[in-house]
Order: sequence, then C-alpha cells, then structure tokens
Amino acid sequence: MRQVVILGATGSIGCSTLSVLAMHPEQFQVLALTASTQTSKLLAQCLAFKPRFAAMLCPLAAVTLKTELQLQGSKTEVLAGPEALIALAGHPEADIVMAAIVGAAGLLPTLAAVEQGKTVLLANKEALVMSGELFMAKVQHHGTTLLPVDSEHNAIFQCLPSAFQQAQGQQPALAEMGIAKLLLTGSGGPFLNRPIASLATVTVAEAIAHPNWTMGQKISVDSATMMNKGLEFIEARWLFNCAPADIEVVIHPQSIIHSMVQYTDGSVLAQLGQPDMRTPIAHALAFPKRISSPVAPLKFSQLTNFSFAEPEPARYPNLYLAMAACSAGQGATTALNAANEVAVAAFISEQIRFTDIRRLNETCLEHFHNYAARSLDDIVALDLEARAYAQQLVRTLK
Ligand code: NAD
Ligand code: MG
Repeated sequence: MRQVVILGATGSIGCSTLSVLAMHPEQFQVLALTASTQTSKLLAQCLAFKPRFAAMLCPLAAVTLKTELQLQGSKTEVLAGPEALIALAGHPEADIVMAAIVGAAGLLPTLAAVEQGKTVLLANKEALVMSGELFMAKVQHHGTTLLPVDSEHNAIFQCLPSAFQQAQGQQPALAEMGIAKLLLTGSGGPFLNRPIASLATVTVAEAIAHPNWTMGQKISVDSATMMNKGLEFIEARWLFNCAPADIEVVIHPQSIIHSMVQYTDGSVLAQLGQPDMRTPIAHALAFPKRISSPVAPLKFSQLTNFSFAEPEPARYPNLYLAMAACSAGQGATTALNAANEVAVAAFISEQIRFTDIRRLNETCLEHFHNYAARSLDDIVALDLEARAYAQQLVRTLK
C-alpha cells in the first residue's frame, strides 16, 4: 500500500488524481490532502477518502473544516498554514507526493517533498520554471524520483529510452541516447483562428473556454496566450537535461498526440491518448507499472484530420518571451513567471485586457532580464520583487 499526499487536492489535477486513486484502493491510501481555501470541497474529499491529515493554507478555513469534520465523526486531523503544507509534503510516512498547487505557491512544499526523497509527481510546472537548476540539483542530491504529470512532459518521458527513465537526476544527454529533438505539442488554444486584431477584446469567458481540455482558470488563460507552452518549454529544458535548441514547439489543434521524441535515425515516437489528465496521472502513480484509469480508449476510426503548424509569433508573443527567458536563465524565468501570474490574475478580475498580459510580461522581463537568482532565497526574493513591479504596471494599465 503506497501512501499518497496531494498538494492542491481541490483543484482540477487534485480531483483527477483522486478519481484515479478511487479505482485502486488496494494499491494506494490517501495520507493527506491540502487546499488553499475551498472548505466544502476538501470536506467532501476527506469524508470520501478518510486521509490521516488535511491542511488548509487559510487558518480560518481550517477551523471551519475541523468543526465540520468533527460533526461528521471524522478522525482526519486538520492542520493550517503554509508550514503545515510543507510538513505534510515531507511527512515520513508519505511515499508519493502529487504536487498540484497552482503557481509559485507550490515551490516550497514541492521542494520539501524533493528534499525528503519522496516520489514526486510534478504538475506544478511553475516550481520548475522558477527554480529549475536548483530543483534538479536537489532531485539528484536526494535521489528523488521525479515523474512529470504535465501531459506533454509525461508523453516525452514515455517516449524516452528506459535508460533515461530509470536515471533519476543523472540523465544522460539527449545526443548520447540518439535523440535529435523533443517535439512539444500544443493545441494553440481557443484563439488559434481568431483575427489577431480582435485579441484585445477577448473576454475572460472566451479565454478560459479551452477547446479540448478542462483545467483550472490560470492554466486555461495561459493556454490561450500560449504562455503555458512557454512555461512547458522551460519545464522540458530542466526535466530532460537539454538545451533550448533541442526543443521545438508544434501546434497540433486536435490534442491527441501529447508530444513526441525525434531520434537521429529518423524515427519519431509519439504518445497518444484522449485529452484527459487522468492518463498521465495514472501513468505517474503506477510507474514503472501500469494501472487502469477512467479514461475512454481512443477510437482511431473516429479520429480525422491530424494537423500541425508552427506557432505564429504575432499571435503568441508570450510563448516567445518564455523561450527568450529560458535562454537568459533562472532570474529571467522567475521574473517572467511572477509577472505572468500577476497579469493573468488582473485579466481574470477584468483589470487589464487580454493583450495587456503580453505588455506586462514583456516590460517585466526587460526589467529583470539580467537578474541572477541562484539560491532559493534569491529566487523567493526576486519572485516577490517582480510581483510588486508587475502590480505597479497593472495600476498604470487600468
Ligand atoms: P486549480 O486552480 O484547479 O487548483 C489549484 C489547487 O492549488 C487548489 O487545490 C487550490 O486550493 C490550491 N492552491 C491555490 N493557491 C494556493 C496557495 N497559495 N497555497 C496552497 N495551495 C494553493 O489548478 P490546476 O488546473 O489543477 O493546476 C495545478 C497545477 O498543475 C498548475 O501548476 C498547472 O499548471 C498544472 N497543470 C494543470 C493541468 C490541468 O489540466 N489542470 C495540466 C497540466 C499541468
Ligand atoms: Mg501541459
């Protein structure tokens, strides 16, 4: 029986993880669930999965949860605050930690799991975007098994040779494995065919209506700007020990191929499946074995018209900003990530326009381009500084 901690249990990835775990009660037990503020959702999850611990970022929400759980006769122990999330991520009895908090807030709890040598299932791409170099050094140092949950990275992982899959933290270079390129696919989001001149008037509802995937709000907006693919570009650079030049972004609007690996002999290996996160989640939970998931099998006779294209720079400037930041270094990627979180939140609360996300990200990246951020303290300080700078920009754009 493997003990599982889910950080960000009430989110889209957290709920999908629980739905896979529910199919395999003989293999996995939920040790702890954490969330930010959504008491009623976490309450229902605690009653259904009976974890030993539940933690909420918000102390007031934790009090409500505790009272409700006691009323229902639950034995789940309730903890509160950011330090509780960190403690549970590194709990001695945890085997697997699903890192599914959204944004920079996931960094410290995810690192805690890495430092305790847990099997870390990484959905929280922002953690790697901010601290990739340091994060991967810790993975190597602590002998942590790090498994990508992001569907593209999970697909690439599945298409890599087993020598790479087994060599956690000490991966051989791509060229040594006969690999020419990693092909990172993306749907292009809801505005693939919308006139570029009309992007300034995009509404929040339009931006979060992804054609193929159902996801949290932040990642949905990131998919519409393709900043999501930019963050994934940076994520891939660290996860797969490669250079930016080794990664190519390919638009594939149908979202059936989840990414590919091109070998030097001309072979291309792809991983295909429904656009449903429960497949990569099941893969990562069971690795190196396989378990069933609730995802419907692909029916090839119903698939038509696979198409591919290059992402247009004028349509997706945020993608290219992220690629530039990736080459510039950890300071640039941390600042861009912080700016983007502020910009997306401001767009969702209707303070700025969709196209202002790019303006804000670009200005921030230019400002912090050459900042060095080597230690965790540097990264956390730069994240805060870039957020404050971006907030200031929001006020000027409003
Ligand atoms: P979501 O917004 O649906 O859920 C986020 C979860 O994090 C919630 O449980 C919330 O309570 C918790 N949380 C939010 N802020 C927090 C904070 N400050 N401290 C502690 N907990 C906090 O997000 P999601 O779509 O599930 O995405 C989670 C992560 O997975 C993101 O990094 C995203 O990029 C990545 N991801 C998501 C998908 C997807 O399909 N949703 C796919 C690939 C990668
Ligand atoms: Mg993805």
